[in-house]
Amino acid sequence: MKVVPVFFRAEMVAEAGSYSPSAGKPPQVVADWQVHALPMDIRSFDPVDEATLALAHDAGYVRGVLACTLVNGFGNRRPDVAASLPYTNGAMLAAAREAIANRRVACAPVSGFHHACHGYADGFCTFNGLMVTALALKRDRQVNRVAILDLDHHWGNGTEDIIAKLGIDWIRHETPGGGHVERKDAEPYLARLDDLVRSFADCDVLLYQAGADAHIKDPLGGWMTSSQLEERDRIVFETTAKIGLPVAWNLAGGYQVDVNGGIAPVLEIHRRTMQACVNAFARG
Ligand SMILES: [Zn+2]
Repeated sequence: MKVVPVFFRAEMVAEAGSYSPSAGKPPQVVADWQVHALPMDIRSFDPVDEATLALAHDAGYVRGVLACTLVNGFGNRRPDVAASLPYTNGAMLAAAREAIANRRVACAPVSGFHHACHGYADGFCTFNGLMVTALALKRDRQVNRVAILDLDHHWGNGTEDIIAKLGIDWIRHETPGGGHVERKDAEPYLARLDDLVRSFADCDVLLYQAGADAHIKDPLGGWMTSSQLEERDRIVFETTAKIGLPVAWNLAGGYQVDVNGGIAPVLEIHRRTMQACVNAFARG
C-alpha cells in the first residue's frame, strides 16, 4: 500500500450553526493533508439509505431527522445538516468495507457519531456511524465481530446505549472517556494500549475514533499532550498493522481555535494522526 484510502465527498459537509466545527471540518482536514503532501487516495462512495440508518436507530427517529421534523445533534432542524448525514455515515461504512477488503486501513474524515443514542441526538451527534457501520457489515455478512476503540476525550454513551438496547454481544466497545480520564491517566493508558489493541485480534475490523479533543488544551477537556497523542496513534496503527487487523478511522471531536478563530490546532492533531497512519501503512 502506497497511499491511504480516504472517503470524502462534498455532500458530507454542512453549515451546522453550532459551537462545534465538526460539520464543516472534512474539507479543511483533507485540504490540510493535501498541502502537507500526505499520500492518500480520495475516493467517492454511496450514502447510506434510511433502512441502514435504522439498523442502529429507532425508525421514527431516523425519518424525523431526515425530514427535519426532529432536531439533529446540533439542536436544530437545518436541511443541509439532514442532507449531510447519509454521507457522513456512508463514508464510515465505505472506509470499513475498504479496510476489510485491503486488509489494512482506510479513513473517513468525519465526526459526529458516538453520542447519538438509539432514539435521540446528543452532543453534536445525530446518527451513530460507528454502530450503523458495525450493523451494516453484520447484515451484509462481512463480519462476525467488530471492535470500537473510541479515543475521543468523551464517553461513547450513544454507542453504549445502542449496544444495550439491541442486546448486542459481538461488539467490543472501548471508551475510556466513560471513566472521566485525567492527565495522570494518560501514561498508564498508553502503556496498556498495545495489549488492548492486540486483544481485538478476534475481531474482523477495528473502528477507531482518533479524537482531537483528547488534547490537554482542548476547551472541552483532554488528557493527553501532543506527544502522547502521537504515541496513541502510533500504537494503534503499528499494532493493527502488525497483527493484520483492518482499521477504519475517523476524526471525532476537537474544539481548539487559534487567535483568528480558525481550527489550526485541530487540523494539526488530525494531520499527525494521518502521518502516523501513513508511517504504519503506506511506506515501503
Ligand atoms: Zn468529544
